[in-house]
Amino acid sequence: MNTKLDLNAIRNDFPILSQKVHGKPLVYFDNAATTQKPQQVINALVDYYKGYNANVHRGVHHLSQVATEAYEDVRKKMASFLNAADSSELIFTRGTTESINMVAFSFGEAFVNEGDEIIVSTIEHHSNIVPWQMLCQRKKAILKVIPVFDNGVLDFEAYTKLITNRTKLVAVAHISNALGTINPIAEMIKVAHEKGVAILIDGAQGLPHGKVDVQALDCYFYCFSGHKMYGPLGIGGLYGRKSLLDQMPPYQGGGEMIKEVSFKGTTFNELPYKFEAGTPSIADAIGLGVAIDYLDNIGWDAIEAQEHALLQYATEQMIKEGGITIIGTAPHKASLISFLVDGIHPFDAGTILDQLGIAIRTGHHCAQPLMDRFGIPGTMRASFSFYNTTEEIDQLIAGIRRVKQMFL
Ligand code: PLP
Repeated sequence: MNTKLDLNAIRNDFPILSQKVHGKPLVYFDNAATTQKPQQVINALVDYYKGYNANVHRGVHHLSQVATEAYEDVRKKMASFLNAADSSELIFTRGTTESINMVAFSFGEAFVNEGDEIIVSTIEHHSNIVPWQMLCQRKKAILKVIPVFDNGVLDFEAYTKLITNRTKLVAVAHISNALGTINPIAEMIKVAHEKGVAILIDGAQGLPHGKVDVQALDCYFYCFSGHKMYGPLGIGGLYGRKSLLDQMPPYQGGGEMIKEVSFKGTTFNELPYKFEAGTPSIADAIGLGVAIDYLDNIGWDAIEAQEHALLQYATEQMIKEGGITIIGTAPHKASLISFLVDGIHPFDAGTILDQLGIAIRTGHHCAQPLMDRFGIPGTMRASFSFYNTTEEIDQLIAGIRRVKQMFL
């Protein structure tokens, strides 16, 4: 098993990484917000628009057939990437947000009634809170929240106790975008299913860091965003168990999702098209397929090893530097660190780091309830990809030292 990456070759695949920002070499540590795109993905978009741009499923003409085949091939590739039992269980969406909203609406219509309960956790992204609040408001259902310990680990015992015979669905992140905590989703799914409750996994931060086997996990819903896994913006997906999706009504009406339309009424298409109203992001889906090939080619063991090494190195260097508080110290973490430079507002520190060419995220990371739980307005977040280097982490530490000199 080869777990060593040729970082020079890999970085050459990402043209954006070689630029300078404010006259300094770019250090891109905002990968949890969106990842950069390899040339292979960029080429796929250009090839599509130059060579076979056409609408899918609708034309007998050559270009439409080529585009349809390429688009449907990615569905098969993505379904097999997730080890779905059938490619019709893979629905293309704009991304995680749309996937969660789709389930909140459609599952909600089919299964949630007044007095029923939905469970989320304290560490969720707003995308995995607000759609459930909207559903609860619509259906007069109750939203319950799994508490989190000070180190960023969910309280598993409290979780099991929150589930009652009124619980209809649990929605929880695979990996927290704000803390890096990797949740024990296999165990969480097991507990939910033992109690007859459906569970949705927000995989926005999960898939970029490792492979997921939805059958081994016995997962009912898994949501993801292509742009966070080196694919284009505007494409993502929902894996959903067929037996459930078949019972759920369409989310949006329009072309593609129908079998027959008349003014007397409409019958709906089969899966996955029932949930794909309108013209999809064809080029972006094709680009996502190329991103998957790219990641598979590098190898997931090598990706995980490099990201783990970066997380470990950055954590050690921050502790050594001192004057830095790391927010989120779960034993199982993905390659991101949320932190505060003691005595300095995250926004001030982030602005200085930007001047040094270092792109990190500052703010609440779309997780305001979590920030409230920790009693802070926000954090700084450095999120690493396999294309990052320990030298870049050294530059971040030097940047933090500079920030301290300026403000303390
Ligand atoms: N869930 C988590 C954990 C995220 O980190 C994000 C984005 O940062 C989302 C959901 C929303 O993803 P998107 O904006 O791609 O729909």
